[in-house]
Amino acid sequence: MKVAVFNTKRYEKRSLEAAAVDKGIEFSFFEPRLDATTAALAMGHEAVLIFVNDVASREVLEKLAAGGAKFLATRSAGFNQIDRDAAREFGIALAYVPAYSPNAVAEFTIGLILTLGRHIHEGHNRVRRADFNLEGLCGFELRDKTVGVCGTGRIGTNVIQLLSGFGCNVLAYDEEPNEEVMLMASYVDTREELFRFSDIITLHVPLMPSTFHLIDAPALALMKDGVFIINTSRGALLDTPAVVDAVKSRKVGFLAIDVYEEEASLFFEDRSSDILSDDVFARLLTFPNVIVTGHQAFLTDRALRNIAETTVQSLTEFDAGLPCSHLVPSR
Ligand code: NAD
Repeated sequence: MKVAVFNTKRYEKRSLEAAAVDKGIEFSFFEPRLDATTAALAMGHEAVLIFVNDVASREVLEKLAAGGAKFLATRSAGFNQIDRDAAREFGIALAYVPAYSPNAVAEFTIGLILTLGRHIHEGHNRVRRADFNLEGLCGFELRDKTVGVCGTGRIGTNVIQLLSGFGCNVLAYDEEPNEEVMLMASYVDTREELFRFSDIITLHVPLMPSTFHLIDAPALALMKDGVFIINTSRGALLDTPAVVDAVKSRKVGFLAIDVYEEEASLFFEDRSSDILSDDVFARLLTFPNVIVTGHQAFLTDRALRNIAETTVQSLTEFDAGLPCSHLVPSR
């Protein structure tokens, strides 16, 4: 089967090739991301692989279908970049990788909390300049802090497991509470309650209409002064300009983000020689109490292997006419 791979990075190419040995898959690796201008590259390929910032809109899916695509798989746990209704209409089956390593994102989330809460990044920078002054590096301890986990699916549950070891009080909110979490955390009934009572708030819900700009100005107004917000889920969960204002007014004391609403035109490429045109993003980079990483929370050796193996499993099932084990939920 001929498979077009968009947004190919070297680290992923290796793991995909390793997982596909002797599986009858012929990959065409393309560096550009999928959008209306690049969809034609997939002409003559039965299957298409994408990643988080590719565009699988109605227009693009129509072009893919016209080029012969019948199957599209995202090498990610989130699938908000795909127009599922359009895919159904054009007869393109959809697969994803629901759980390649929730622990990878959970550990990274804890890493962000510790890095920013203890100024480890700043300490590292100072020592490299032979500046051993500790002024301004006083941090806080996680023990006895109240951490609010919004979304207790695979990643949120892992975060709660890890937080339990730090002696935090964990509050949790989810539309569908799960029993495992009830043993480690206290569920609150509304996300407003979570916002009101947490010292640290970490987001692990998917991006969908009900979670778009989950943290906006009214939500920020409910929070404790100096609240610590972490977003390793999807950028558009935050109304970023409102959050920037809250950092400026010191309502938000710490902000750690691995994702950004407008990341599609920024992340995953070396832009160090470019002029940044996104003023909101540029402002974020000026704060000493904000850290930004470029959507790297997923990136571990285990996660890459699991992403490749699950994706190749989906491709071989589709090729053999078998039911796909990892179909994107229709709604
Ligand atoms: P999951 O489906 O296992 O869990 C999501 C949870 O959110 C579910 O328990 C669901 O009930 C809950 N939820 C959905 N809508 C809600 C709402 N409106 N209010 C409250 N709860 C709601 O997903 P997961 O594997 O834990 O992943 C969570 C998200 O993390 C993904 O959707 C993806 O966007 C993001 N992610 C980011 C990276 C990264 O590298 N930064 C990697 C993987 C996943």
